[in-house]
Amino acid sequence: MRVELDEPKCVAAGQCVMASPEVFDQRDDDGVAILLEEQPADELLDGVREAVAICPAAAIRLVDQ
Ligand code: SF4
Repeated sequence: MRVELDEPKCVAAGQCVMASPEVFDQRDDDGVAILLEEQPADELLDGVREAVAICPAAAIRLVDQ
């Protein structure tokens, strides 16, 4: 599974970092999300799915590949 982050959509709310700190971080200057792991290990996917579900900007997608 691969994570896609649509940066222009991100409103810097930070929920993704709370849900999945291994996969997401935020830029220091403006809080926009940073993808740390484009292809997270299986054990991290539950957190990523939670981030997808709670992101207020619908900026995160988990795609099969
Ligand atoms: S939860 Fe969504 S809007 Fe908030 S920082 Fe993460 S990607 Fe951006």
